[in-house]
Amino acid sequence: MNPAASTLPPSAAPTPARAAAALLARHWDGKLPVDPRRIAAALGIRVVARGGPDDPGYAYSGYFDNSGGQPVIEYNQSEAVVRQRFTIAHELGHYALGHASSPRDTPANFSTRVADDVERLANRFAAELLIPAKELRILLQTGKFKDVADFAAAFWTSQLAITYRMQGLGLIP
Ligand SMILES: [Zn+2]
Repeated sequence: MNPAASTLPPSAAPTPARAAAALLARHWDGKLPVDPRRIAAALGIRVVARGGPDDPGYAYSGYFDNSGGQPVIEYNQSEAVVRQRFTIAHELGHYALGHASSPRDTPANFSTRVADDVERLANRFAAELLIPAKELRILLQTGKFKDVADFAAAFWTSQLAITYRMQGLGLIP
């Protein structure tokens, strides 16, 4: 068992969907794309850019540190912007789901195939936060969006994230 998962007993931990909905209700201005950095700031979390030319040794996608004082989220600014947004939302998930400080998140932790339950939950949370179900359904109903790329642009996520979210909601097979 991952020690990070033992912070809360499973029954007391919020589900990713509920935790994301609660944060959106409290800290989202209702505009797309959802800005996870702004939500983190509203929660008093410090968001730190790592990587890039001045920090080339940073080999991770992100990190959540809740070991004392102000919680800190790191993200790798040398990765694509949609990835940076997903990373911040994923690390926010570790916070909102009551996980202890996460080991530094390698790119593999953001894969849909990641085996670790804690990482899967953080990924679920990130998708729920960045792609709110209600807004996805509304945009779908307008009929103006022809393919996944249009939705990815509106929510500022990867096309893969949109596809999984639509499948999860039963909107596409
Ligand atoms: Zn993680």
